[in-house]
Amino acid sequence: MHTPGPWTIDDTHKYYPQSCIRYNGVIVCQLPTMASTLGEAQKEDRANALLIAAAPDLLEACKRLLASTGDACGVIGYPHDEATCSCCAARAAIAKAEKGE
Ligand SMILES: [Zn+2]
Repeated sequence: MHTPGPWTIDDTHKYYPQSCIRYNGVIVCQLPTMASTLGEAQKEDRANALLIAAAPDLLEACKRLLASTGDACGVIGYPHDEATCSCCAARAAIAKAEKGE
């Protein structure tokens, strides 16, 4: 079970040179870029941090999506295209987050 959300980005660099993701003040993960790093790598790290911080919310949203649709495409014989199905994408994202699949 992962650390519960919400997760927030800490860019204060008060105790560590790297930015980090926190839950209730506790570090969930640290980013690789040093505070002195400039340019595109820093922008990419910031974008990665935003995505990581949103992960618990995204996971919950995927679960709610499947619950609200009744997991319709999981019904045998339900016609749909797995390559473009949002339910299949949500189910795959949940499996990736919870089982590493
Ligand atoms: Zn589907």
